[in-house]
Amino acid sequence: MQICPCGSSNYANCCEPFHNASQLAPTAETLMRSRYSAYVLQNADYLLETWHKTTRPKQLDFPQETVSWQKLEILHTKKGGAKDEKGRVEFNAFYVEKGETHLMHEVSRFKKVAGRWFYVDGVLD
Ligand SMILES: [Zn+2]
Repeated sequence: MQICPCGSSNYANCCEPFHNASQLAPTAETLMRSRYSAYVLQNADYLLETWHKTTRPKQLDFPQETVSWQKLEILHTKKGGAKDEKGRVEFNAFYVEKGETHLMHEVSRFKKVAGRWFYVDGVLD
């Protein structure tokens, strides 16, 4: 069994069905988790596919320097449920770069278009 990078359960029952397009993420939080896992796995295609077209970059390059993602903590969600059209997810993501642990704190905004959740943008602080 492979632990899911997002930390919630095993990969096959967590983010993998979203990454291999056999399921759509039902909520903003599950999309957020699957995007974090995609960063860990350096799955640029999935990240671009789940990025809202108004804010999606043309391509995504992973940094040359090794950033090692350690852990995701979901702090708070606002809307983003199966019946919502918009949602916000506040999270902490921990990573190690050059031997030092860093914390990224972000509030991400998500929007549902034709039944699919997309990442719109995020505010760092
Ligand atoms: Zn997961």
